[in-house]
Amino acid sequence: MDFTYAPHVHEIVRRVRAFVDTEVIPVEARTLASREGLSAAGLMELRAKAKAAGLWAPQLPPDLGGMGLTLSEIVPVFEAAGRSHLGILALNCAAPDEGNMHLLNHYANADQRERYLRPLAAGEIHSGFAMTEPAPGVGSDPNMLRTTAVRDGDEWVINGHKWWTSGGTGAEFLLIMARSNPDVPTSKGATIFIAPANAPGIEFVRDIPHMGFDDLGGHAEIKFHDLRVPHSSILGNEGDGYALVQARLGPARLTHCMRWTGIAQRALEIATRYAAEREAFGKHLSEHQSIQWMLADSALELHAGRLMMQQAAWLLEQGDQARQETSMCKVFVAETVNRVIDRAIQICGGMGISRDLPLSKWYESARAFRIYDGASEVHRMVIARKVIKQYGSV
Ligand SMILES: Cc1cc2nc3c(=O)[nH]c(=O)nc-3n(C[C@H](O)[C@H](O)[C@H](O)COP(=O)(O)OP(=O)(O)OC[C@H]3O[C@@H](n4cnc5c(N)ncnc54)[C@H](O)[C@@H]3O)c2cc1C
Repeated sequence: MDFTYAPHVHEIVRRVRAFVDTEVIPVEARTLASREGLSAAGLMELRAKAKAAGLWAPQLPPDLGGMGLTLSEIVPVFEAAGRSHLGILALNCAAPDEGNMHLLNHYANADQRERYLRPLAAGEIHSGFAMTEPAPGVGSDPNMLRTTAVRDGDEWVINGHKWWTSGGTGAEFLLIMARSNPDVPTSKGATIFIAPANAPGIEFVRDIPHMGFDDLGGHAEIKFHDLRVPHSSILGNEGDGYALVQARLGPARLTHCMRWTGIAQRALEIATRYAAEREAFGKHLSEHQSIQWMLADSALELHAGRLMMQQAAWLLEQGDQARQETSMCKVFVAETVNRVIDRAIQICGGMGISRDLPLSKWYESARAFRIYDGASEVHRMVIARKVIKQYGSV
């Protein structure tokens, strides 16, 4: 076992960290103080600086303008970018665009690459992934997919109702998961279609009001009314939708974990600095054992999460689906991040609740991480299934 990163990865981590500290965190502080999210112009400015610094899309291959790092190598790089929720946007490695680029890079045909992937990789446009539906449609259970796609000559006609399409409102195009064959299970009867977001038949109902920040774009509720798309708009092959979702979600779960670990690590650093300076009952907070234990628990849980990410990334690179390991990682890191931010707020007292620090915003936003990309209960179900299969027979 070798846990060493190559020298070029260490160097990139150092540069990303310096970029986030000097260019991004001051902008983050201004947006927190003004109580407004990052404007589109502000994002373009940050992105121009990231490009000029040679820190653009660490996960993308060089022919798409990226830095060509492997999944294992981006573990510490995404963490460094994730030290601010705006850092990942600046470097074009935020969800949902990052996961959508991964999917398009592997499955898009030549036309789709030119029309959608290239401008997305260049940071000129945004995208949305429309899978989840309001009840009784698909949520945790993929078999409940209700949006339909019916073939009509060389076209498909899509009808359905989606919500929680992250970044949907500002997206140039949508990846739409629809049931293209009602006679077989979702695993074989679903297809992903790409549609321009301004196509006739797409109704943006609203951005769902929610807790947490909007800097990463809102979360749209969308209806499809006889949306017509050509057969050539299929991503991959007809009936491959579920397999493609799995291909997107495996690495996407890990990249979410990497980014959020960056935020949680910074929360730990903020809390540690506060504890080292603030005095109560005749000594610094950091000299009280109960505070030390909170800091220690956060540090050890973050460390364990990093090792889980590294191992799961390594397995995926070997061609293993790593279903069990990515599920374990997702549950562990999502719950760790929530605990670490919660402890940081506790240590910072009233200051932690204020908007003078980013902790309260992160606390609100981190809660959803235990639900999206599979709720903790669903991942535990997947993990338990394998445990029971392995050890459950008497
Ligand atoms: C901030 C945010 C961003 C999102 N972005 C996107 C996006 O870009 N695209 C997209 O398509 N979707 C997106 N989603 C939707 C997300 O993927 C779903 O919310 C998630 O899959 C859960 O589905 P649901 O909300 O319908 O919950 P439900 O399926 O209704 O489940 C509700 C709860 O039931 C419990 N539960 C479910 N199954 C089990 C089980 N087997 N055992 C025990 N308990 C169980 C869990 O606690 C779960 O939280 C986003 C959601 C959020 C909050």
